[in-house]
Amino acid sequence: MTYDDCGALFRRQAYVGGTWIDADDGQTVTVTNPANGEVIGTVPALGAAEVERAIQSARDGFRLWRDKTASQRAEALRRWHGLILDHRAVLARILTTEQGKPLAEAEAEVDATASFFLWFAEEARRVYGDIVPAPRQGQRILVTKEPVGVCAAITPWNFPLSMIARKAAPAVAAGCSIIIKPAEATPFSALALAVLAEKAGIPAGVFNVVTGPARVVGGTLMDSPVVRKVTFTGSTPIGKLLMRQAADTVKRVSMELGGNAPLIVFEDADLDRAVTGIMQSKFRNAGQTCICSNRIFVQDGIYDAVVEKLVRAIEALRIGNGLEEGVTMGPMIDPRAVADVDKLVQDAVTAGASVAKGGKRHPQGDSFYEPTLLTDVTPSMSVASEEIFGPVAPIIRFSTEEEVIELANDTPFGLASYFYTQDLARAWRVSGALEYGMVGLNEVAISVVEAPFGGFKESGVGREGSRHGIDEYVEIKYVNMGGL
Ligand code: NAP
Repeated sequence: MTYDDCGALFRRQAYVGGTWIDADDGQTVTVTNPANGEVIGTVPALGAAEVERAIQSARDGFRLWRDKTASQRAEALRRWHGLILDHRAVLARILTTEQGKPLAEAEAEVDATASFFLWFAEEARRVYGDIVPAPRQGQRILVTKEPVGVCAAITPWNFPLSMIARKAAPAVAAGCSIIIKPAEATPFSALALAVLAEKAGIPAGVFNVVTGPARVVGGTLMDSPVVRKVTFTGSTPIGKLLMRQAADTVKRVSMELGGNAPLIVFEDADLDRAVTGIMQSKFRNAGQTCICSNRIFVQDGIYDAVVEKLVRAIEALRIGNGLEEGVTMGPMIDPRAVADVDKLVQDAVTAGASVAKGGKRHPQGDSFYEPTLLTDVTPSMSVASEEIFGPVAPIIRFSTEEEVIELANDTPFGLASYFYTQDLARAWRVSGALEYGMVGLNEVAISVVEAPFGGFKESGVGREGSRHGIDEYVEIKYVNMGGL
């Protein structure tokens, strides 16, 4: 990918206070294409001093932005939304080149990204307060919502655009400023978003993108008393670390962390719909989504039929470079991710699982793994207790509803869960019994801007999207007027 291919959206500098900057010492980080290992370009390896300057710019940006009217903020967000859609093809190309997912999935991610800007443009104008009946004569109680202030967002590589949109759109709508630290593997999507922010007329300092080593950039953001909120999407161990760091300055936190989603297929399910759902939820983004089905529970009577249908569906997948026409599954993010997944598969086989399909590295390249179906998996295997984050579907047999609910909830995670049934009473019972922030009933496409996205237990704190998403970026203030 070159400037020629992607024009002005392919930027190789960080964006701070409305200007494009390099590291003071000129250091850079190299970004490669996971499909073929080719170098895409470099971004600045910023140090603490540059990040400190970004924080000061964000403070200046915040002071200006919070005083705009809600309509002015909404208009800027709407322009940003329009520009994202206008540049859909280029954004998708940048995304696929640095992340690997098939172009069609990247285009869908661009659309999802745009949807957050539009949604929160609308929500910006509905940050209402309350007038509360006062307990005393001559007293009035007024409750208002104010922007939290300077926010820091640390985001992962698996959805390099939409994970930023879910944070930046509500923050900017509420009147906050935000500093984004994208994942090291996928900074170019974030920088492209900054180009469009500038074009949309988002003032200097309101939206910033800082690139560089996670510990230095993250540490500087976390140490700063100016940063009043941290919003993070990524792994549970790093989320816990950030929560501990946030304690020192008592920052507000939103955490979207790891998952271990159960997907349950009951004997009364529409099997074809269930198999389609398993394929979508398991192999989208080569199995690297936080809401991927991680443990697939299939009831005794339909076990063989489901396995047979899945084998056929997996055979229909086309593996390759996501930029190529017709490819339905791209590479994983890097060879280390492939090694981690392969270890889980080999450990499962050693413990008694059978490989019905795949089970090894794919000849396409170092970052590719075959879409894999494991049968005879038991809940005690590490493939069933750890987040796989790769294209491996472990199938676990169960007999009764009570048993499977117990198994499904037996995890420290609580992000997404899915089940397939045609029985109305069971639909209500099981939706109620699953200890998860999100439940898909005969449905796996659960990530939509209209609905609250987030997890129970160690899967996180807070919600993104929906009418609740903006609450994460406001403080509640109450004014008590007496002697009236
Ligand atoms: P990760 O290793 O936790 O990294 C996420 C972000 O944290 C990256 O920007 C990373 O920077 C940064 N980071 C790493 N160490 C840090 C530190 N010491 N201080 C500050 N920042 C630090 O997670 P990942 O492998 O990118 O993403 C996969 C995980 O994200 C999975 O567990 C998945 O379930 C979860 N996820 C959750 C959701 C959700 O909505 N719940 C959505 C998507 C993904 P570098 O890249 O520069 O190291």
